[in-house]
Amino acid sequence: MDGKEIIMLKVAKFGGSSLADSTQFKKVREIILMNPARKVVVVSAPGKRFPNDHKITDLLYLCHAHITYGVDYSPVFSLIRERFLSIRDELGLSVPLEAEFDALEKEMHEGITEAKLVSRGEYFTAKLLAAYLGYEFIDAKDLITFGFDGSVDREVTYASIEQTVRSRSVVVPGFYGAMPDGVIKLMSRGGSDVTGALIAAALNAGVYENWTDVPGILMADPRIVQDERPIPKITYLELRELSYIGAKVLHEDSVFPVRAKNIPLNIRNTNDPDHPGTVIMEAFDEDETEAAKASFITGIAGKTGLTVITVIKNGLSSAVGAFRQILGFFAKYNVSVAYTCGGIDCYSVIVETAVFEQVKYRIISELEAEMKPDSMTVSDGLAVVAVVGRKMVLRVGCLAKIMSTLGNADINIRMVTAGPEEMNVIVGVDEKDFARSVKVLYEEFK
Ligand code: ASP
Repeated sequence: MDGKEIIMLKVAKFGGSSLADSTQFKKVREIILMNPARKVVVVSAPGKRFPNDHKITDLLYLCHAHITYGVDYSPVFSLIRERFLSIRDELGLSVPLEAEFDALEKEMHEGITEAKLVSRGEYFTAKLLAAYLGYEFIDAKDLITFGFDGSVDREVTYASIEQTVRSRSVVVPGFYGAMPDGVIKLMSRGGSDVTGALIAAALNAGVYENWTDVPGILMADPRIVQDERPIPKITYLELRELSYIGAKVLHEDSVFPVRAKNIPLNIRNTNDPDHPGTVIMEAFDEDETEAAKASFITGIAGKTGLTVITVIKNGLSSAVGAFRQILGFFAKYNVSVAYTCGGIDCYSVIVETAVFEQVKYRIISELEAEMKPDSMTVSDGLAVVAVVGRKMVLRVGCLAKIMSTLGNADINIRMVTAGPEEMNVIVGVDEKDFARSVKVLYEEFK
């Protein structure tokens, strides 16, 4: 570790699987103590320890539902209580949790809000981890303030964080804050990511570390391609392109505060702490030489279950407002359009089959009645594969290589769209060829 790292504050957020039991707490402690720059820690509530286990947050919601419907909540409440007490005891801590749980139960009898009860998952986790690390506990209700429109009041929140945290070593519960009158309010599910991002932004941290149970962002779906190596660097735009149609590691919107300040976001794996994971930034300083060395594809994602609706009508391309009119039928029935493409006098709209199915006949009949196309086809079973890379723009021949790779594998290409910014190429293939397309492209570009 060098001197620079000590000065550069790291805000570290640990997700539910990283704090699921005492073994995970031990790993978290080692990670934090490994680098003194990790002074601000944000936690989620304990998640699943094994596939059929329950997340503490889910149990807390369930507990509140029992109260609402007048059903005995004690079996669920005991599960929650026991889970925290066993973590405490296994770590040899002496945090007086019993008294807190008794007081909470009293409040539950008297009438507790769902937000207050559910927020206790993160609250107790932060209390235990603070004691275990010898860090101070700071309640999120004193840092994160919501405005009356329901969103975080960033100005007030940043000021509280700056004043309260300063250079202290602290643990803060994620996922909740308070209204100006002090009433606890939850964020949406997975909201601890937002808490961590707000704190990192307010303190101008050198990095926001998001510790989870995955190695980082992978180049392709691990169910299709067996490669556990994460992408080392990815921009938010690329991430958005990939997560639009692929698996999600994190909700990009949730980290808006760090993105706005261009603070690097580092996805790390609590179960493999030596691995550098994935760094996400708005932009990287890369020159053409660096770009030429590395693979010019950042990732490959895709999805199945799409339908293509193609409208053909003489004069369609030159008629003012015709494309807009076609899209209007989809908007009217609340069907989001994933992609469009077309040729002369021909326009194709690509939508999710499951959504389109519900309003298919209404859209088709209205479109036919109002636009009188020469012909119209509806074809299911389309999959799309997106090849994404910020460096594609620097190289000649990307598109040709993608096409020839698929062609050589005997895969029929049903559609192609490529943005003029040359960040992505989206290829439509038959669903049966989907996994194979991802595989051959990965093999070519890895
Ligand atoms: N514990 C909350 C949830 O399960 C918040 C979080 O983990 O970020 O959604």
